[in-house]
Amino acid sequence: MIKKHDHKTAKETAKSTYTNRLRNILKSKLSARNMTKAINTYATAVLTYTFGVIRWTATELEDLNRKTRKEFRKYRAHHPQSAVERFHLPRNQGGRGIPNIRTRHQGQITNLRKYFHEKAATSKLHRAIVSADKNLTPLRLADNNYGPAEEVQTAQESKAKWRSKPLHGRYLNTIESEAMDTEGSTTYLRTGNLFIETEGFIAALQDQVVSTKIYRRNILKEQVDNAKCRMCGEKDEYLDHILSGCSVLAPKAYLDRHNRVAGIVHQNLRVEYMGLTETTPYYQYTPQPVYETENALLYWNRPIITDRTIPNNIPDIVLTLKNEKRTYIIDIAVPLPSNIMKTHAEKINKYLPLADEIKKMWKMESVTIVPIVVGATGEIPHKLHAGLKTLKLQNGLYIPIQKSVLLDTCSIVRRVLGDQE
Ligand SMILES: [Zn+2]
Repeated sequence: MIKKHDHKTAKETAKSTYTNRLRNILKSKLSARNMTKAINTYATAVLTYTFGVIRWTATELEDLNRKTRKEFRKYRAHHPQSAVERFHLPRNQGGRGIPNIRTRHQGQITNLRKYFHEKAATSKLHRAIVSADKNLTPLRLADNNYGPAEEVQTAQESKAKWRSKPLHGRYLNTIESEAMDTEGSTTYLRTGNLFIETEGFIAALQDQVVSTKIYRRNILKEQVDNAKCRMCGEKDEYLDHILSGCSVLAPKAYLDRHNRVAGIVHQNLRVEYMGLTETTPYYQYTPQPVYETENALLYWNRPIITDRTIPNNIPDIVLTLKNEKRTYIIDIAVPLPSNIMKTHAEKINKYLPLADEIKKMWKMESVTIVPIVVGATGEIPHKLHAGLKTLKLQNGLYIPIQKSVLLDTCSIVRRVLGDQE
């Protein structure tokens, strides 16, 4: 039997080793996903070895969870007002994937008890251990009715809690709506090649907790005399306004974000249809207005000359396949997540007259309007996959598109609001 005193020492050692390892990992330049893996294996293991051997209380385990989040905050990788549920949920469920130590503990106790009780059926030794353990170890093997001391939230319950929160839940409700690709919207968490600080900031944006003037006034209850946007001075400074509604940010910041997505699509069309073999990194790519090969004609942001006046005659990209007599009108948008479907429909309506005109003028078999719409905080609608398919581009292209949008959105908000916690 381990003496009470030894328990205490062993626990202190485990705690400090865990914290040191956690800090070292956070200090490293690992990507967010690899960092999470390292925490899971290298840091948390120090604690899991002791589960079932040393007695831990629920309070102590929750303290370790809190301490973990606090260390993340020091590295600006977790916003203090961000959803706690998401922090601990697995990455394939839209979470950050940082282990919940209390859940780990509960799982380990349950597994070890199950192991000993099953073994006891056939092994004398295990049977002896089980009957001897009358509260000797945290497993309490002799007590058949000993269950988890208190309920620990399952991933589903934790997700339900996240979903029900008015601010934090908005993101989850959006990506879980029918029109959206829930899994695709969280791909950036699984490919995980962003830095942890960026990932933390994205979570804060999706959770709606960055300190805009309206957030400071309405949620933090601070005294804010003028809640108008610091950029345009016209509209109230809501996060949504900064993400995609500000007239001062539109001509440069939003346009750059938009053009980088358009550039990814444009360059890949050249690869697919025009034999382009040497590609440029997307953030350095500046297309020419016209590219032409024997079978394909590609316009970038170029007015289409028509016989009669057409109001919207400058789509982002126009691709014509001469042999097949097909034209694609491609237009890009990065709206608020709540406006994705509306924007998609607007794009189609906007270019219908031009599509008709091109069909007649250029004697095309078909003219297809392909909106490419991505939410400003990385939300992916099913229609984006459909659009890429129509263009015969590889579906995986949504991943660099999502990353590009997320990085630009982060930098826009950071530039406007300055350094956030
Ligand atoms: Zn503004």
